[in-house]
Amino acid sequence: MSETVECTVIGAGVVGLAIARALARRGVETIVVEAETAIGTGTSSRNSEVIHAGIYYPAGSLKARFCVAGRGQLYRYCAERGITARRCGKLIVATEEAQVRTLAGIIDKARANGVDDLALLSGAEARALEPNLACVAAVHSPSTGVIDSHGFMLGLQGDFEAAGGMLAFGSPVVAAACRRDGITLEVGGAQPMAVRSRMVVNSAGLHAQALAARFDGLPPASIPPAHFAKGNYYALTGPSPFSRLIYPVPEAAGLGVHLTIDLGGQTRFGPDVEWIERIDYSVDPGRAAAFYAEIRKYWPGLPDGALSPGYCGIRPKIQAPHEAARDFLVQGPADHGVDGLVNLYGIESPGLTSALAIGDHVADLLRERAQ
Ligand SMILES: Cc1cc2nc3c(=O)[nH]c(=O)nc-3n(C[C@H](O)[C@H](O)[C@H](O)COP(=O)(O)OP(=O)(O)OC[C@H]3O[C@@H](n4cnc5c(N)ncnc54)[C@H](O)[C@@H]3O)c2cc1C
Repeated sequence: MSETVECTVIGAGVVGLAIARALARRGVETIVVEAETAIGTGTSSRNSEVIHAGIYYPAGSLKARFCVAGRGQLYRYCAERGITARRCGKLIVATEEAQVRTLAGIIDKARANGVDDLALLSGAEARALEPNLACVAAVHSPSTGVIDSHGFMLGLQGDFEAAGGMLAFGSPVVAAACRRDGITLEVGGAQPMAVRSRMVVNSAGLHAQALAARFDGLPPASIPPAHFAKGNYYALTGPSPFSRLIYPVPEAAGLGVHLTIDLGGQTRFGPDVEWIERIDYSVDPGRAAAFYAEIRKYWPGLPDGALSPGYCGIRPKIQAPHEAARDFLVQGPADHGVDGLVNLYGIESPGLTSALAIGDHVADLLRERAQ
């Protein structure tokens, strides 16, 4: 079977859905092809569900720009649609004197990104907010929050379909031929077909590089390496000892084992960083000891036996362990030379917060092609 559609978005995670929504609302005939049988079964349902303020990322980076813009869009979107989002705030805590300087650096970095509502607190001021906390100083971020990420994705899907878009589940893209007059996708699944489009967006998350490598006509040199950094979570038994999110000072590949409280009141800790070779969503119970040690630096009262293995997510990294952190990579025709194609790589945190801004950006990249 063969179909022709103006634009095909590959992947129905939060980012693919936001891109598809932006395109459909601009009048572009768009379908989303998703390998699985539902939306958001990949990284989009395996994260901390935090609406990040935009604190940590280098000034001018896509992560900084999309996070700050996306956060504002996201809070407004949730308010308009009745999607639950709670602006609970967070504390980034220094548990030893040597880290206090890092907190000052975090405030400067955030200010350069346009985040100017952070406050540096003494240990006593932080404990006045959170009596169970142990720290020598903290940064308070009032605009950080948590979101019902599945409700958000359902909202995006609804908007997309209301604008005339269509979703095809159980439709893995297996290869593509990129030619001057369009891109033909080979779609597998129960009803294999060829889909020809003038515009294609590869938003396949962890699989984006492997898929791009099967795009005939796309220069292989444009495809970055793929590395996977698993983040495991542990759940706390019993009520939360904190009312805000608690983060240690960030580490190289992640934000440190932090405490989040989901909208159901469940407290969870994570994600840690475990570099892996292949996608595997099991959580090793043997990692608990390291969790207890990390958490007790800021919550010494954590009782023995209170943690149980939860779930995990996998960060789609484009740098190897011990390499410097890299920015989101959004490659349009000007970057790889294929008309009408956009590839997204390394869309790790803060991709959920940034989704609406990424959607607008990709729709802008394809504007000329859409006219
Ligand atoms: C541990 C962890 C914690 C995080 N915490 C936060 C947070 O608190 N706040 C925040 O803002 N961000 C967070 N993030 C980042 C955020 O979760 C991601 O950036 C976001 O979910 C990425 O969405 P996506 O649509 O790009 O990818 P995905 O959700 O992985 O979607 C990709 C989709 O493509 C489909 N697909 C793959 N290959 C094919 C194919 N060949 N054909 C068709 N379909 C295909 C997959 O089935 C999947 O549905 C976190 C990430 C991790 C790993």
